[in-house]
Amino acid sequence: MKNKLISALIPAYNEEECLHELYKRVTAVLSKLENYDYEILIINDGSKDKTLEILQELHDKDNHIQYVNLARNYGKEIAMAAGFDYVKGDVVVILDADLQDPPELIPDMISYYEAGYDDIYGRRKSRKGETWLKKTTAKLFYKLLQKSTRVDILKDTGDFRLLSRRAVEALKKYKEQRRYTKGFFALIGFKKKEFLYDRDSRVAGQSKWNYFNLFNLAIEGITSFSNFPLRLSSFLGIIVAAFGFIYIVFLVLKTLIFGEPVRGYPTLLSVIIFLGGIQLLSLGVIGEYLGRIFDEVKNRPLYFVEKYSGDEE
Ligand code: UDP
Ligand code: MG
Repeated sequence: MKNKLISALIPAYNEEECLHELYKRVTAVLSKLENYDYEILIINDGSKDKTLEILQELHDKDNHIQYVNLARNYGKEIAMAAGFDYVKGDVVVILDADLQDPPELIPDMISYYEAGYDDIYGRRKSRKGETWLKKTTAKLFYKLLQKSTRVDILKDTGDFRLLSRRAVEALKKYKEQRRYTKGFFALIGFKKKEFLYDRDSRVAGQSKWNYFNLFNLAIEGITSFSNFPLRLSSFLGIIVAAFGFIYIVFLVLKTLIFGEPVRGYPTLLSVIIFLGGIQLLSLGVIGEYLGRIFDEVKNRPLYFVEKYSGDEE
């Protein structure tokens, strides 16, 4: 019987310090698999350091290594999308270049795949080398996300997962510009299996995420999977209007019964400020969705590839 092909799909942005170690550890695992040939496909997401040179060097030395050199830095979400388009494997495992996802777990993941699962994903038992603030904000975000959408987007799971070919084909159908890939994994369905693992700290280099990025990704996640914020602003509108109405009735009655010497400047001002705030907030929410519509209707190409080291089919 012909061997199946397993592909490791690895987005990399400025990872020169990690690549050699990555190559060693992933190769050690994949080359030992029986019944599987392997390729290691690294997506160079417009790195500004020596990542590309190192990839070329590794590719020259070992033809299991392939790379896609994107035309510029697009971010991990789009790098993964490019990866789905270029990856050849019957089985695809997504890893981070910084070895935070231990490749040594791949054989276990494969045994689940062979048992018939399509999407075998890691759930973090622990997060080493991450600050208290990052952990807490992450937790808060997932809570919000789960409350606001019907899609079951799992907390403490990352992009570390093994996918069957049909799951990859399904993911390729999501052509959205603003991508929140973790949500797509949930949307495609198929048979899923969770396993627990300890997320290591990165072997070298710096995390590319900062709180601003994470905040953006969080907004991305919520707005692309739920209309809850829009509904919330209608809801707030109704509540405030109801209070306003009651207050008017109260004022009219008071004026009729007790008369009204001109006063009430503080009330007036506070109501104006409060309403102004709510209006701006709602406008902002609408604007957020409008911006997304704008981005989607332009329908621009997702990415350009400067070079692919393998053969295009
Ligand atoms: N990454 C990427 N493009 C970017 C930023 C990051 O391809 O613009 C890759 C990075 O090389 C790594 C993975 O995405 O393989 C996760 O990035 P990082 O380790 O910085 O994030 P963290 O693990 O801290 O969430
Ligand atoms: Mg990392």
